[in-house]
Amino acid sequence: MNFEEIEIKAIVRMREMGLDAARWKFRWIRSCRRFGQCRFPWVDLTGTLRQLGHIELSRPLCEVNSWEETLDTINHEIAHALAGPEGRLHNDKWLAMCKVTGCRPQACGYDKVPVPARYQAKCECCGIVHQRYKKPDPKMQYNCKKCGPTFGKVKFLDMQLMPQFS
Ligand SMILES: [Zn+2]
Ligand SMILES: [Zn+2]
Repeated sequence: MNFEEIEIKAIVRMREMGLDAARWKFRWIRSCRRFGQCRFPWVDLTGTLRQLGHIELSRPLCEVNSWEETLDTINHEIAHALAGPEGRLHNDKWLAMCKVTGCRPQACGYDKVPVPARYQAKCECCGIVHQRYKKPDPKMQYNCKKCGPTFGKVKFLDMQLMPQFS
């Protein structure tokens, strides 16, 4: 599933669960550690909406995780939104909302560490091992984003064929 499809599905899910478009938006983040995050709308003392609420999803983690994990994260963050700021700490309020959205009642989406992907590529420049779930396109030259196309050319290997990485 590509990012556009994920975004559309996330927004549909937000609206289904009653997060209204006037106050809640979807946003991509680039975090590699936090799969998702819920940022509450900010209403000042006069009742004026000063800042929209956001359900955020990590692009890098959506790339390496299955749709089931991504959906669970979306539902996890929506449960935070429904529980309100007091449900921020994965307390009873939040647990009750997990039943409504259908996510695993587990804290937390933040520490869903990516399971090792089938396709991996080590950057010889910085040593980072890049991971992919989807089969790499054999005609495409992949680069380490940090090191760029000159020093960071990487080649994805199928870990089911080569389970060792030195
Ligand atoms: Zn959480
Ligand atoms: Zn690199």
